Amino acid sequence: MVHRSGASRPRQVELIWNITLVCPHDCKECCTVAVHVTRRGGQIHLSTTLTEAEQMPYQAGKGTVFDQAMAHRQQQGLELDLAGKLRVLEHLEGVVPRIDFSGGDPLAAAQNLQVLRVAAQRFGRQQITLTATGAGLTRCIPEEIAPAIGELNLGAFFLKRHKVD
Ligand code: SF4
Repeated sequence: MVHRSGASRPRQVELIWNITLVCPHDCKECCTVAVHVTRRGGQIHLSTTLTEAEQMPYQAGKGTVFDQAMAHRQQQGLELDLAGKLRVLEHLEGVVPRIDFSGGDPLAAAQNLQVLRVAAQRFGRQQITLTATGAGLTRCIPEEIAPAIGELNLGAFFLKRHKVD
């Protein structure tokens, strides 16, 4: 579109980005078929409502079960690695994006906060919405999250457990 001044006005786009399907919860009504991750002894279990449970060994010192589960899915090519996620942001140059980071739980794995920060620096924090669960939010301190987002939505699980209308 060309503005009256003659300059091109960047196109606005609205995106919902399910940046990971890893989630601490297993809601029956989940619309993304999120990957429920739990630790059982020395094993990490990954399951969805549609697939057989998968197991992988928990490795001490390699991050949380969610970090390890997401890394496992990245190795399988089922989720973008950090470089891939940052490339997505690079591809948004030339438009004015409004991005809702959702999942899964975006904050379950620590890496995704880094992506939110880069997105906020590049496009402005007011363009960034985070939709997370209480479990993901408790993994970060508010001072870490606040500079990277303009809006916070609480996921369905939080609303159900805490009976918010
Ligand atoms: S918290 Fe959200 S993403 Fe996770 S299983 Fe429930 S509905 Fe799906």
